[in-house]
Amino acid sequence: MNRSSSVASRFSNGAWLWSWWRPPRGGAEESQYAALSEVLLLVSLSASLDHWTWENPPNNVFVVAHARRAIESSISSNTPSFSMWCKTVPIKVNIFIWRLNLDRLPTIPNLEHRDILVDRDCCALCDVSEESRNHLFIRCDTSYQIWCRIGVWLDISIPVLDSVEEL
Ligand SMILES: [Zn+2]
Repeated sequence: MNRSSSVASRFSNGAWLWSWWRPPRGGAEESQYAALSEVLLLVSLSASLDHWTWENPPNNVFVVAHARRAIESSISSNTPSFSMWCKTVPIKVNIFIWRLNLDRLPTIPNLEHRDILVDRDCCALCDVSEESRNHLFIRCDTSYQIWCRIGVWLDISIPVLDSVEEL
């Protein structure tokens, strides 16, 4: 409820004191809250002043590449790495592809998962099939026609794909 509260004010007598505007609603929120609580069990506060540290090998000096490797090592090994940006496309395209890979684009199922009402039931492109990331980018007839035109434009053959992961 108090966004400007300090970490120290949330920790008292060895326990974390939460003051949520509302409790986690389950699903992703509940699992993120559980993960946060698990991490905070390992935290111990001291009376010293706050300071930044980076405690990763090889020399405890912060380097973005080391941070990226640390993040990637914490992600499931089954998940392909999308933390490397492609420098030849705008950053918004990199972010879009990253969100596509994580299935975090505002598709109908993802919006409904967040209790956001959508006034349609079907794909925004064809208005026939159920919308999902695989349908929107791979299986939809409209997107397939776009892929074919991109293939003609770039003079490459577009392979038949079955999922976003294959893309
Ligand atoms: Zn469609």
